[in-house]
Amino acid sequence: MNKISENKEYTKRLLERFVKYVKIWSESDGNAADQGVFPSTERQWDMAELLEEDMKALGMSEVQVKDCYVYGRLPANSDGEAAKDSVLFLAHMDTVDEVTGKDVKPQIFENYEGSEIKLNNGVVHNPANDQALAEAAKNHETIITTDGTTLLGGDDKCGIAAILTAIEYLQNHKEEKHCNIEVIFSPDEETGHGMDKVPLELIKSKYACTVDGGNIGELESECFNAWGANVTFIGKACHTGDAKKGRMVNAVSMAGKFLSLLPHTRTPETTENYEGFIAPMEVAGSIDTCKVQLLLRSFTPEEIELEKKIVSDCAEAAAISFNGKVEVNFREQYKNMKEKMTQHPEVLEKLRAAFREAGVAIVEKPIRGGTDGSRLTEMGIPCPNIFTGGHKYHSRYEWVSLNQMAKAADILINLVRF
Ligand SMILES: [Zn+2]
Repeated sequence: MNKISENKEYTKRLLERFVKYVKIWSESDGNAADQGVFPSTERQWDMAELLEEDMKALGMSEVQVKDCYVYGRLPANSDGEAAKDSVLFLAHMDTVDEVTGKDVKPQIFENYEGSEIKLNNGVVHNPANDQALAEAAKNHETIITTDGTTLLGGDDKCGIAAILTAIEYLQNHKEEKHCNIEVIFSPDEETGHGMDKVPLELIKSKYACTVDGGNIGELESECFNAWGANVTFIGKACHTGDAKKGRMVNAVSMAGKFLSLLPHTRTPETTENYEGFIAPMEVAGSIDTCKVQLLLRSFTPEEIELEKKIVSDCAEAAAISFNGKVEVNFREQYKNMKEKMTQHPEVLEKLRAAFREAGVAIVEKPIRGGTDGSRLTEMGIPCPNIFTGGHKYHSRYEWVSLNQMAKAADILINLVRF
């Protein structure tokens, strides 16, 4: 029997926990993070302190907050070989800054049957154009949405709620034998800095699992190779009335030319599955200098090299056509974890077995992004990602299935039980 999803008492606790956490404003700030501020927002400490308290209340050991990372352990409650195993569960505390996560008012629809849900700001949920929602309605799942004015923050408070509810169940059922469990809740995942100060010295587990995916069944062990690019056009400013004969070189125009040269077939909005992209994210500047920030994403290192060449060539061509200058800088953000994962096939095997035991059909697909797990895998701790039951993340349309979140908690329990 599934311990959380088929147990009303624990499903209720999971919901209460989730609602409590989404009401805490813990948005991170991408700009501050890139300037080296860590954590990028003070408000993430509020979440960290609350989680520290909750983990202590659950009787976890070695609970501590370090650089805004919350760490805790649940030692094995048995002897023997299986008990010596140790697994690390990870979820992130911050929410993305694209849509506000302040004053979240979760709306709960129990035994949802598929009627249209109308929220503020014209946000409408209609199963007719949302396949996952139609599935959830068919199963009469309990749905949690925003009120239309904010995001929900299920990314990744679903993960936090699932992990702590699994821990609570194990603490209340000592007859269930389990191996060592470590838990880390991290700040600044959304800003790409989630593993910058991860307390590696505390981690004893040889493998880990992030609970930060989407639809039920998702098991992810492949992600993008990710690079960032800064393209800075350097022009020559002068009075616009006196600009002819090469006195003015306009950096804004060069940036515009550069953007128009980039291939439209290689953008986030024109690619899917295993296709990589180049995404212009921000333009800022004046006639004197104009800076374009871009993301480069691909599943293979060869394609990343190609994307770098495209960016460099287009930048150069734009600068030449205006007789100006350009500087192009690339920095690596994270690597595809597939290579390291194939060196440890047993990790995915254990997870697949935990899915099967929970009766969840496995959907293995690449992540068109990265998780804290990608960086941790790079550091030598293989770390696949599992679903949380969250949908339409990073938007006011975000919704979560409580039943799916409960299944994620079941899988965590299956993974540590023997
Ligand atoms: Zn996330």
